[in-house]
Formats: sequence, C-alpha cells, structure tokens
Amino acid sequence: MRLHWPIPEKFSDMNDDNKSIHEFDFDLICEYFSSLDRQGPGSEESTRKALSFIPLPGGHSKVADIGCGTGGQTMTLAKLSPAQITGLDLFPVFIDLFNQNAANLQLQHRVKGITGTMENLPFEPESLDLIWSEGAIYNIGFERGINEWRSFLKQGGYLAVTDATWFTDRRPQEIHDFWTKEYPEIDTIPAKISQLQKAGYVLEACFALPEECWTTNFYQPQIKTQADFLRKHTGNATAVELVANQQHEAGLYEQYKAFYGYVFYVARKV
Ligand code: SAH
Repeated sequence: MRLHWPIPEKFSDMNDDNKSIHEFDFDLICEYFSSLDRQGPGSEESTRKALSFIPLPGGHSKVADIGCGTGGQTMTLAKLSPAQITGLDLFPVFIDLFNQNAANLQLQHRVKGITGTMENLPFEPESLDLIWSEGAIYNIGFERGINEWRSFLKQGGYLAVTDATWFTDRRPQEIHDFWTKEYPEIDTIPAKISQLQKAGYVLEACFALPEECWTTNFYQPQIKTQADFLRKHTGNATAVELVANQQHEAGLYEQYKAFYGYVFYVARKV
C-alpha cells in the first residue's frame, strides 16, 4: 500500500460531522484495503523465513508489529511463537479487524492491536525483544525508522523489516522516476545495510521477497476488490483514481520487477 497518509495529529482531530473531501479519501482507502488479507506484498513463507534467522521469542518476550494493518503477518508470527505481541497501526478500521482476527484464532490474550503512530511509539525504552514491520517503515522512512525504533529494543533485541529496495545500480528511467517520487528513500541493498550498521545494528540476514509476494498475494487479490469497489462507488472520482493508481503500480511491477522489490532485513541491536 503506497499512499500518502494523513499526519497523525490531523487524523486524530477527525470527526464524522466535519470531514473534508480529502479526509473521505482515507475512508475509501481503508475500505479498499480492509477487504484484503494483506495490505502490502508478503507471504506466510517470508515471515516464517525471516523469523528463522533469530532465536524464537518465548512466552515472556515482547514483540511489536509496527504498521500491522489487519494483521496477516502478525497472526503468522503468533502461530510460530508464544510471545506477547502488540500490533500497532494508524487506522482504527484495520485494528478492529486485527483484533477480530486474533479473537477468531483464540490469540486475543497475547495478541493485541492498538491504534497509534509509528512516529511516536507507546512503548517503554528498551522494553521490546523484537520489532517486526512488513511493508510499512516507508511511512516514516527507513533511516528514521530504524534509528528511532532502536531505542525501544532491549540490548540484543531484533529488528525485522521489509522495505522497497533497488536490486541493481542502474534501472530504466520510468521506474526510477516513479519510485523516487513515491518513496525517495528507496535504495540498494548495500546502502540499506550500511544504514543499519550506522544506526547500531548488526545484520543477521537479508533476502528479497519472491515475486509471488507481489503478484499472487498482493496485486491479484485486488482484481476482485477493484470490480466490487468500483461498482459500489460508481461515479466517485476518488474511487476511480484509487483503483487506477493501484492498477498502474501493478503494471509497473510486471514490467520492471527485475529492478526492485521488497527486501527483508533482519538485524540485531548492538
Ligand atoms: N504490515 C501489513 C500492512 C502494510 S501497509 C501488511 O504487510 O499487510 C502499511 C500500513 O502502515 C497500513 O496498514 C497503514 O495504515 C500503516 N501506517 C501508515 N502510516 C502509519 C503511521 N504513521 N503509524 C502507524 N501505522 C501507519
């Protein structure tokens, strides 16, 4: 999900009686993405693989999943580890679905979703054993995120994040321009690793997410959502634009997937 989110202060001021058109856009965005199991590229296998590089968090471990969305990857983590897991996301709609998902899996006693912003996390300093974040750190920016979030990790705690990454030093102009505008911090694997090292982490593992994480698991499920969504919002220019943007992004991925993707970075705080 590659969108420009409202600044949190503004968001918290919102109320139903006084919504501008701009604010309604976020309702539409939430509606569109809440009908999907995941709000970003990824897979159960990739979550499992990233977790395999770190010691499995035990029952007393505290884990945070930042920008958790409706919790696809969080539930995978919870099935693999008995840890206490907090999912945090800006949007109450996603967090309601997250908590329903946790309850359906009878995990609600140790998997809790809360609303909040990744720019001001509600955790105690050095209290977390693991910070997880799939397809979300771009909202704060990779470098700011890894630096600020580090203070919430215990010494020796782990960070596991996916971020948009160039696979090559050179790339066609069209895709370069698209991503540089969408996410100026997109960079190569060595550049991101160097940022991690500078921020006080040691890299444990990194791997590129397989193509199916984008196609089968993210863009393809949107095809049905798009048809239903456009039918429901006939004549709504914002809805039409939202769908067109997602289709454009999917088309670019198909054409240029050799040059970029999400990379999972698994690192330990030193
Ligand atoms: N991790 C999920 C969702 C990824 S989409 C998955 O992979 O399926 C990015 C998520 O970041 C969205 O759910 C969005 O609501 C959330 N988000 C955006 N800005 C945020 C912020 N400032 N603080 C917390 N969450 C944010």
